[in-house]
Amino acid sequence: MLLDAFDSNWIAPLGPHVDAFEAEMAAQAGVSHAAALSSGTAGLHLALVLLGVGPGDIVLTSTLTFAATANAVMYVGAEPIFIDANPDTWTMDPDLLEAELDRLAAAGTPAKAVVPVDLYGQCCDYERIEAICARHGVPIVEDAAESLGSTAFGRPAGSFGQIGVFSFNGNKIITTSGGGMLVSDDPEVVKQTRFLATQARDPAPHYQHSTIGYNYRLSNLLAALGRAQLAKLGERVGRRNAIRARYQEALGGLAGVRLMPIADYGTSNCWLTCLTIDPAAFGVDREAVRLHLAAHDIEARPVWKPMHMQPVYAGKRAVLDGTSEALFRDGLCLPSGSALSDADIERVIATFLSTPRG
Ligand SMILES: *Cc1c(COP(=O)(O)O)cnc(C)c1O
Repeated sequence: MLLDAFDSNWIAPLGPHVDAFEAEMAAQAGVSHAAALSSGTAGLHLALVLLGVGPGDIVLTSTLTFAATANAVMYVGAEPIFIDANPDTWTMDPDLLEAELDRLAAAGTPAKAVVPVDLYGQCCDYERIEAICARHGVPIVEDAAESLGSTAFGRPAGSFGQIGVFSFNGNKIITTSGGGMLVSDDPEVVKQTRFLATQARDPAPHYQHSTIGYNYRLSNLLAALGRAQLAKLGERVGRRNAIRARYQEALGGLAGVRLMPIADYGTSNCWLTCLTIDPAAFGVDREAVRLHLAAHDIEARPVWKPMHMQPVYAGKRAVLDGTSEALFRDGLCLPSGSALSDADIERVIATFLSTPRG
């Protein structure tokens, strides 16, 4: 398909692969419309613009996430409030969300949007989050950057709330080197997304603009790459689930070691297999294991550093119960790429097990 994109001279922006990739992604996400964008971050930014979020508005989001989620809130001049994770899912805790929405409504400063983040492939508890947000009349933007191919309550990732956003960055389960997709059941939202993402050009023979636009579209060439990748999604989800199952079998039963649980309401693409290490029970802490793996050329990373602990978000309000800080302190993401061989995984396991323990 990449060669076709070359041969047909559609290296110029937009073209038939963009349309086809959008249709295929909408089908994958179980929604009716999709707009291909240059990144997931661009999708989150436009989602907030389209919901009318602006300066001074309040947006609630997960503290345990990659910075892009919170940065999009800052792009529109809104005020983020960070919500802690639930220890059983590692995703936004619905009780903390509900308490904060109640508090904001009572204070007369209702939230303008909620952006829950599907973490490491796991969807949030949308049955509860959707009910809570519906009661408050607050729209949801699902940050599904990490959860393509996962499900919750029998529905695909990306289908929750008013707008869903995917990423095809280099490290995600499928990649276009860089890219993203905004999906929605609302045709007007997706139409406006395409308009804003192509510099908001008015329908006129000359270049005329009545709105500030962005250069956020995905090129036809990268859409061709995305289609080829999307065809492999099922295979990759299967492989990453098999990798997690092997880690669970080899490491999940160790004293003090606990894999990130898969919530019983859904399935995970197992984008990354992550676990926590309780130093009292395991003998050494996460950092000792991480450094031991690194000394053997195996890159394992700490879990995302929560946004409320980031210097750039110091002073922002956060609703916390200690969960994300404990996950950051004790959590480790193991090598999980679909391309890793069984032998690679066994080497990670053997090296993990050979960590000298006090
Ligand atoms: C990767 C990621 C993004 C950003 O996507 P890009 O395509 O890199 O801009 C947003 N949110 C989360 C949770 C991510 O992991």
